[in-house]
Amino acid sequence: MSKHIFKVAVLPGDGIGKEIMAACIEVLHRLLGNQSPLALDYVACPGGAQHYADKGVALPDDTLRQCENADAILFGAMGLPHIRYPDGTEVNPQLGLRKDFDLYAGVRPIRAIPGVPSTLADPRAAGIDFVLIREQSEGLFYGRLYPEKQPPANDEEAFDLGRISRKASERLFDFAFRLARQRHASNPAKGRVTCVDKANVLNSMAFFHKIYWQRAALNADITADHCYVDAMALNLLKHPWDYDMLPTENQFGDILSDLAAGLIGGLGMSPSGDIGDRYGLFQPSHGSAPDIAGQGKANPTAMILSAAMMLEWLGEKHALPEVTATGARLVRAVDAAFASGRLRSVETGGSDGTQRIAGAIGDALERRSAPA
Ligand code: ATP
Repeated sequence: MSKHIFKVAVLPGDGIGKEIMAACIEVLHRLLGNQSPLALDYVACPGGAQHYADKGVALPDDTLRQCENADAILFGAMGLPHIRYPDGTEVNPQLGLRKDFDLYAGVRPIRAIPGVPSTLADPRAAGIDFVLIREQSEGLFYGRLYPEKQPPANDEEAFDLGRISRKASERLFDFAFRLARQRHASNPAKGRVTCVDKANVLNSMAFFHKIYWQRAALNADITADHCYVDAMALNLLKHPWDYDMLPTENQFGDILSDLAAGLIGGLGMSPSGDIGDRYGLFQPSHGSAPDIAGQGKANPTAMILSAAMMLEWLGEKHALPEVTATGARLVRAVDAAFASGRLRSVETGGSDGTQRIAGAIGDALERRSAPA
């Protein structure tokens, strides 16, 4: 059998990024045994806030080149609160990667995994299954992404330049409608898009909202509606199971995705894919968690589910259903590992750390592939 070989640039980064990446690679080794139709060629790439402190550069040119030449990028976490640029902002090279590789859609699936406790007592929380789609090329992060366009600050005032453009909004909404259509094809109960904005106050958001309805009219087979971001913060606590696809502005997506992760067992359960038309970078939704780094407490599940998203993305991009199926197999192993309710991450009040959780997912993979 000939194997499909994909080159993956691996950027563990800072803090728990290193620990969860090592655990994830171990699980991928167990997933991709000799019989697998797929092999991954990993290229380890340095970078991050610590790299900036040590060498004066957050992402070396060679790392950027490796990312450019790879089929996909697997990213742990970068940034450390005590390491900052001279202007006082944190070293967040992932913002630069999103810009350099035009990773405009931050896809953040929020799915309740049976056996993982939710912060919501309502039994309907077991049905939480929605996707936040965060616009990542502009919005309220625009001034940070394009500092040369940002109005200068002085000791009396500071500004942040936001931008909403027709092009970036149209491609974001089209992405959301496409994904909603795909989800509807595999689950008829899904396939609804809800735009999240603040069109009642901000001009830029009124423009975003107008473009949303123009794209909705071109995607009339998909149910479309809308919600203001403050109401959505409440609704995600009251009835998150009612939502499916939530495209939103950059900063709103940043905030809502942490809130949403809290519903399904914490940031350690929340994967993401930063996706553009050509490149894809896959990373957990969380940061480097310096408060628990080096203690073996980090939950690697978000990292492992991000790797599963990477395989599904590679499979779809290259029209290789067996690669997509390998990603789906990894997701099923995660579900099987947590199903009994006995595997408990530190975030959900348990004591199972990185090794124990990754080991349980690897064991579930091997159980599932054992002959009946
Ligand atoms: P960033 O702004 O870089 O995304 P953040 O400010 O959201 O980072 P995180 O590093 O994500 O902060 O951590 C937020 C909290 O969640 C911390 O208390 C951290 O310990 C916890 N946390 C994050 N990821 C995990 C994980 N994988 N396992 C366990 N706890 C985690």
